[in-house]
Amino acid sequence: MRLITYIFGCILLLSGFSLKAQERNLFKKKTEIEVKSNSQLFQEKNKKKDELDELPPLQFRNETESIGVTAGSEMQERKFEPIKVLNASISNFDTTSIDEGENLIVEIEEEAAPEGTEDFVSVASYFAIWDTKIIDPYDIDAKEFDEPVDIELYNTAAGRNWAAPLEIVKQTSPFGPRWGRLHAGVDLDLETGYPVFSVFDGIVRVSHYDRSGYGNYVLVRHYNGFETLYAHLASPGAEPGTLVKAGDQIGVGGSTGRSTGSHLHFETRYEGNPMNPKNVYNFSPFEPVSDHIILTARSFDIRSLSLKNEYGAVGDKVRSRTKAWTKVRQGDTLGAIARRTGVSIAKLKKLNGMKSSSVIRAGRRIRIH
Ligand SMILES: [Zn+2]
Repeated sequence: MRLITYIFGCILLLSGFSLKAQERNLFKKKTEIEVKSNSQLFQEKNKKKDELDELPPLQFRNETESIGVTAGSEMQERKFEPIKVLNASISNFDTTSIDEGENLIVEIEEEAAPEGTEDFVSVASYFAIWDTKIIDPYDIDAKEFDEPVDIELYNTAAGRNWAAPLEIVKQTSPFGPRWGRLHAGVDLDLETGYPVFSVFDGIVRVSHYDRSGYGNYVLVRHYNGFETLYAHLASPGAEPGTLVKAGDQIGVGGSTGRSTGSHLHFETRYEGNPMNPKNVYNFSPFEPVSDHIILTARSFDIRSLSLKNEYGAVGDKVRSRTKAWTKVRQGDTLGAIARRTGVSIAKLKKLNGMKSSSVIRAGRRIRIH
């Protein structure tokens, strides 16, 4: 009887190992042990959840090298292409193309406040390489914006280019006050049916229809929080979550919404705050003024921003914010995370609702922005 139990136990153990091995093949980086929901360990794990969130499941598109992997540091020792599935629209981001020089991988969540609500909802989630210049460290209100931010608009050497929004760019109306309200973009002449292109690489964050204002419009999030908006499209444009390269078509020009004739209403924004596209582009011929722009409060026309947006609530509420998380490594302290990310211990504690006595556990994720 004892022998049978022993053999049975061995079979269970072996099948357990082979399952684990299969999992390792599919999800090589997943090092946590799965536990049944009714087990004591699960309940213990759940108890700790109030401190820091669980690391979300990662999926890998490609086979990765497992050489030199040690618990807690495997992410930076491998070349990989992680994707995270979110809702119906799959957002994925090839982190290897962002910055070859940095190696701290963070999880980024982009949130937007849709029309008619103050609540932010998640619109895109992906993994990126942490760079304090990529993630805006300031929760920006243009009026209180005094720290300069250096935004890299394009980087030809890194394969990130720029493109014009239309094949022929002809400005018909400038940015600024108009009839007591703010015209928060420029109008560019076109014929209905003309293709509209993304001006830089990025991810489509909003694609919506605003009957009394923008009509069909698309908002693209580029690197470093810079965003562009394309309005009055003839038909719905590219879907949210779509990754675009500069010059990719994102829609077709038209005259939907509040528009008296076919044109493209084109906005440039930073973290939801519109700025004069002339700070970014020359318009004849169309080209970026530089590969970098330095944003300060002066980049925003504060007087204009105090006016009501011509497009009403939608124009005001195409707002975004970004959250970022990193994984706690083996033997990590708050001080070590602060040094690695450039985020102060006080800010880490605040973001994660931690008391000074809080223990940080390897494998958990900690919010850093
Ligand atoms: Zn306009």
